[in-house]
Formats: sequence, C-alpha cells, structure tokens
Amino acid sequence: MKPAASLLLLFTAASVPAAHAEIDPAPIACHSCSEWNQPHAAFVLFGGSHYVGPAGLAVVAIDTGAGVILIDGALPQSADGIVASLDAQGLDLAKVKYIATSHPHFDHVGGVAALARRSGATVLTTAAGAIALAQGQVPADDPQAGYGDDMRFAAIANLRALADGESITLGDTTLTLHATPGHTPGGASWTWRDCEGERCVDLVFADSLNPVSDDTYRFSEGDRASAFRASIAKVRALPCDLLVSAHPGFSRLFERQAQSALIDRDACRRYADDATRRLDERLRQEQQAQ
Ligand SMILES: [Zn+2]
Repeated sequence: MKPAASLLLLFTAASVPAAHAEIDPAPIACHSCSEWNQPHAAFVLFGGSHYVGPAGLAVVAIDTGAGVILIDGALPQSADGIVASLDAQGLDLAKVKYIATSHPHFDHVGGVAALARRSGATVLTTAAGAIALAQGQVPADDPQAGYGDDMRFAAIANLRALADGESITLGDTTLTLHATPGHTPGGASWTWRDCEGERCVDLVFADSLNPVSDDTYRFSEGDRASAFRASIAKVRALPCDLLVSAHPGFSRLFERQAQSALIDRDACRRYADDATRRLDERLRQEQQAQ
C-alpha cells in the first residue's frame, strides 16, 4: 500500500498548477484601463442584441433563442461586470456558446479566457488572431509588438478560426466574420441581423481601425497602408444600420443611445472616414520623421 500512497501524494502535488490555472487572470494595469473599465448600464441595442460591456470597451451579447453569442470580453477585471450586465438583461453566462473576438489585444480579449472557461464557450477569431489568442501575446508583426510584455494577456483555449466571410449560425442568428487587418494582423469585424417583430436591422461590431504603435513600426512600410485602407473600405461597405465600435466612443454609441438614435445608416461611413483621416495623419508623420 505504501508505494500507492506516495504515488497518490505525487499526483496531488502535480495537480496544484492545474488548480491554479482555474483561477481568473489578474487585472491588467494600463494608462487607460481604469477609465475604460468604468461601469456602464447594460441596454438593448435592437431585438435580442444587448450592450453588456464597461464604458470604454464594447461587449455585445446576442440572445439567439438557442444560446448567447458574446462579442469581445474587455479586460480581465471586466469579467464580473460583464456577467452582472448579462444577468441584468436576463441572460445567463452558462448559455454563452460562442465568444467572437475583434482583435487580440488585452483590452478586448483580456476577459475572454475567464468568460470562456466559466461558460464553456468556443472562441471565434481569424487564423492570425488564433495564433495570438493561443499564446496570450501579440505576434512579431503586430504594430504594438514593440510594447513587449505589456501586451500579454491570458492565453485562450477552445479556439475556432473562421475564414474571411465565413459565418456561424446559432438559433435565429447568423454571425459573419469580416477580416479587417491593420490595427492588428488578426483583426475582425462582425455582422448580424436582428429583428423586433417584422422590423429587422443590420448590426455591425467594427474592429478598431486606428494606427497605434511604437516608433519601431511603420505603417508606410511594404503593403501595410494599402491593406489597412482595404479594411477601412470593407467596413464602409458593410450592411450597417447600427454600429458598435470596439471602443464605443469611436462611434458615439452612448450619445446615440441617449438621443434614441442608435440606428444610424451613416455610422459605418463616418467611422471609415475617421479611420482614413487618422491613417493619413500617421503616414504624414512617418514621412516627416524620415
Ligand atoms: Zn487594440
């Protein structure tokens, strides 16, 4: 009996790291993190689509009638607030079947590992996004790779990569991925349709389209700028009655909500115009720095 008992002890000791992996990832500190993570009351966007994120990082929940789809998971420290917002809207984390992601930066996917583990959901991304999400770090070709360990986040298991234009269907909802590289190589925007009775609208969750990096990365190098412009053009052309951008402020989401003007068929065009202005300005600065 003795060898078996010591073997059991060994197994008990070996199981300790696995138990630690079940603990939610630590909060991430960054310049804007506490501002982004300010609470915001959850609200209905349209039909079964709900805003459940904090004030500075969009998180959307779609009640499909056969489970819930979440889009993005904000920061690790946002997870409990997202669960509370789901509850407030009568939605249950245990019913989340998919978590679609915009882009693999800690402020949009830092909370996804914990939300996916607690719900058992499959996490959706692009092929390039899957590489970053699986390792919990941006790849070397990410514009923000120069920030090094500051970009780390909890690695995500249970990933499924979708091709550009590919859809998943759950209940009454078909969600389509649109690859929008530029801000990150693995970035994606998402479209779906939601209805209130006979009235249906096309919703867009648009990825970040702003050029952000340290000085070692140049958006003017190679075909980066033209690829970025193609992503901006793609977002401009999406079926877009109601836009939610990855950072809600970039599409004035709460102002539109306050004015009962969430539906705005010009929103994607304006979002693309702003993105073009920022990219043009960045390319001008890179030219001047030469
Ligand atoms: Zn980002």
